[in-house]
Parts: sequence; structure tokens; C-alpha cells
Amino acid sequence: MLKRKIRIAVVGGGLGGLAAARLLQKAGIEARVFEQAPSFQRLGAGIHISPNVMRVMQGMGIEKQLEAAGAHPDRWRSRDGLTGEVMFEMALGAHAVERFGASYLTVRRGDFHALMLESVKPETVHFGKRLVDLDDTGSSVHLSFDDGSAVEAEIVIGADGINSKIREKLLGPGRPTYTGDIAHRAMFATKDLKGFTIDEVSKWWSGDRHIVVYYVDRNKDEIYYVTGVPQTTWDPAQGWLPSSRDEMREAFAGWHPGIQALIDATREVTKWPLMDRDPLPLWSRGRLVLLGDACHPMKPHMAQGAGMAIEDAAMLVRCLQETGFDDYATAFNLYESNRSERASRVQRVSKNNTWLRYGEDPSWCFGYDVFKVPLVAPKASIEV
Ligand SMILES: Cc1cc2nc3c(=O)[nH]c(=O)nc-3n(C[C@H](O)[C@H](O)[C@H](O)COP(=O)(O)OP(=O)(O)OC[C@H]3O[C@@H](n4cnc5c(N)ncnc54)[C@H](O)[C@@H]3O)c2cc1C
Repeated sequence: MLKRKIRIAVVGGGLGGLAAARLLQKAGIEARVFEQAPSFQRLGAGIHISPNVMRVMQGMGIEKQLEAAGAHPDRWRSRDGLTGEVMFEMALGAHAVERFGASYLTVRRGDFHALMLESVKPETVHFGKRLVDLDDTGSSVHLSFDDGSAVEAEIVIGADGINSKIREKLLGPGRPTYTGDIAHRAMFATKDLKGFTIDEVSKWWSGDRHIVVYYVDRNKDEIYYVTGVPQTTWDPAQGWLPSSRDEMREAFAGWHPGIQALIDATREVTKWPLMDRDPLPLWSRGRLVLLGDACHPMKPHMAQGAGMAIEDAAMLVRCLQETGFDDYATAFNLYESNRSERASRVQRVSKNNTWLRYGEDPSWCFGYDVFKVPLVAPKASIEV
């Protein structure tokens, strides 16, 4: 294992951690990623990449590859779950590029993650490294992994998700909250869908539940759906579980025939607990700093969780460049001051599950440019 001190250790090789590593390396700052999984794993899921996130992809240099991989929905539709009536519709496609300066894509999450992984230098990601302890001595951070190995780093970025070990180090133990909703996820071949044509991306709603449906590839060969359905309890020790067509039929009984056709076409479906946390009182201390789900996990109802992790990564690197690496304390302060309000707003709207239901101007979210937005002063200087 690495004997010398490394500049930045990123803990967690999810979308946020990889974005941070790529952007740091592009800025000429050494970064290594330590990921607990033994290898890269593909999840049967899709993901929205909205223009605010595509702008970071432009900065990372993988925009073209993503454009080639993903579906380019022409419009977003919000529909009544029972009648199918269109409640709101928004042009995307060329209109999104013209209005927001970047595309709106829907893509296989695995394809997105693989492109992110390819974007970092070879040997950047160390798999099979579950962080079990870390010690910030003041002059460096000592990281210990479950395989008995250890490394020394100048700075540690906690991109280790909702159960972050680094968040625990900063704020003490504390489980995320089960929100009372679960999400079903399924992906299947478009040819299996009989007698119904889907919108390119749509969200179908009733009072207490919804289903989001879209293509995940440029050729529209595969369809993905993800739901939000109330369920009173969930064992906190339990991750995702298998679900079934019957469970889906029960959850969406009486819904539009198009949704029944989607359920009929489903081969495998899983269910996931939706967890979140209240905004944290701090995002960094000493040489440790958090990003993404480690500091602001949220319900996925705005499809912006990974987007916020990726924007965080870009802002953190921007702030380190702004202050100079050695003044990381000011950089961390500047970073939090420029991210916490937006992340909390997205958390709040996601929790309320109102986004694009009846119509609104999405510019505050999609029009955000993390590389150009004017920086607000760090909290410390506001308090002086
Ligand atoms: C059903 C559902 C649908 C969603 N849809 C969307 C969407 O369409 N668009 C969107 O933007 N977001 C979406 N999200 C949210 C998104 O998945 C998360 O917000 C995003 O993955 C957070 O990224 P991250 O890098 O912060 O954390 P993660 O993706 O959780 O990555 C954390 C990484 O850290 C690793 N790790 C954890 N602990 C350790 C440790 N101790 N040592 C080493 N490694 C560790 C993990 O193995 C993991 O690889 C969805 C979420 C759900 C549940």
C-alpha cells in the first residue's frame, strides 16, 4: 500500500467521489479513491442527468460519451396516475440545450458510473478498502481500512454515502431516518412492453404515490421505472429487498392501463427504503470534509441526489483552487457557504415531492452553473 503521504484521499467511489477525484486531478492535485466494494458493481437502475449536472460533465470532459450513451427526452410529462391526463409538460431536447446550455439525459446508472470511473487516472481507485477508522492528527490524517492496511493523507473527502464513517467522526453516531416511503426499481427491454408506448420521461402521480418512467439508452432499447410508495415500517438494518409484480399490482391497483402494462412487462423488481437526514450543523472540521449523501442525503423525488453530490465535488475543487490548497480551512468554509443553502433547498423540495407536478420554472435548479455562479463570502468572514 502507499507508504508516502498522499494529498487527497477520497473515501467512497460513488458518483460524488469519482467526480471529486477527476476534477482534482484535472486541477493538478493528487487524489486517490478508497472504495469498500471489491469491484465496480452495476445496479439495474436509471438516472436523470439534468443540465446543471451535464455542465459538470462538460468540465470533466465526459459530456460527449454521455450524450452518446443516454436517451435524450424531448419533453417531460407529468400525468395523473389514474386517468393519464397530462397535468404539466415541459420541453427538453434542443430546448433544454438552448435554455440551460446543456442537455437533459436519462441513462443507465451503470453506464454513467463506468464513464466516471474511466475518467480518473489509472490506479486512482483502490477497491476493497472499507474505512474503519481515521485520525486527524492536525498535521495529517491517518486512515485505517478493514483489510489491515492504512494510508496517510493531507486532506480526506468523505464521499462515503448516507452511512458515512466520516460524518460519524465529525458528529458522532446517528442513523439516517426512514422517511415512510419505499422505491420500487425495475428495468426491462422495451420490446417486452405490449400495447402501450411510454413518454420519453414521465411521472405519474396520485395523492400519496408516484411512478417515474423513462428510457435509459440512446436507442430506447430499455425502460426503467422507479416509484415512491408509502410503507409504514422498514427494518433499519435491511438494505434493498426483492419485490414482485403482485406487490406492484397491489400498490398501483386502479391505475391507468399504461401503468398496468408496465407492471405486466416487469421481470425483476426490487424495493428500497428511502432514508434522509436533517441538514447537518457542519460539513467539515480540520482536514476532513464531506460531500453528497454523506452530508445531505435526500429523497430521490427531484432526481437530484447524485446531481448535488457532483455539484458539491465541483464546488469543493473550485474553492480549493480559489484559496490555494494550503489554506484548505478557508476553502472548506467557502465550499459549505456556497453549497448548503442549495443542497437544503433541494432536500426540502424532494421531501415535499412537488417538483414539476403542476408546472413551475426549473431554472433555479437546471440553470445553475457551479463553475460560474458568483461565490458568497465564507461564514467566518460574515461573522467578523
Ligand atoms: C431509488 C433512488 C433513485 C434515485 N434516482 C436519482 C436520479 O435520478 N438522479 C440523481 O441525481 N440522484 C438519484 N438518486 C440519489 C442518488 O443515488 C444519491 O444521492 C447519490 O448516489 C449520492 O452519491 P454519493 O457519491 O454521495 O454517495 P453513494 O452513491 O452512496 O456512494 C458512496 C460510496 O461510498 C462507499 N462507502 C461507504 N462507506 C464506505 C467506507 N466506510 N469505506 C469505503 N467506502 C465506503 C460506498 O460503497 C459507495 O460506493 C436516487 C436514489 C434512490 C434511492
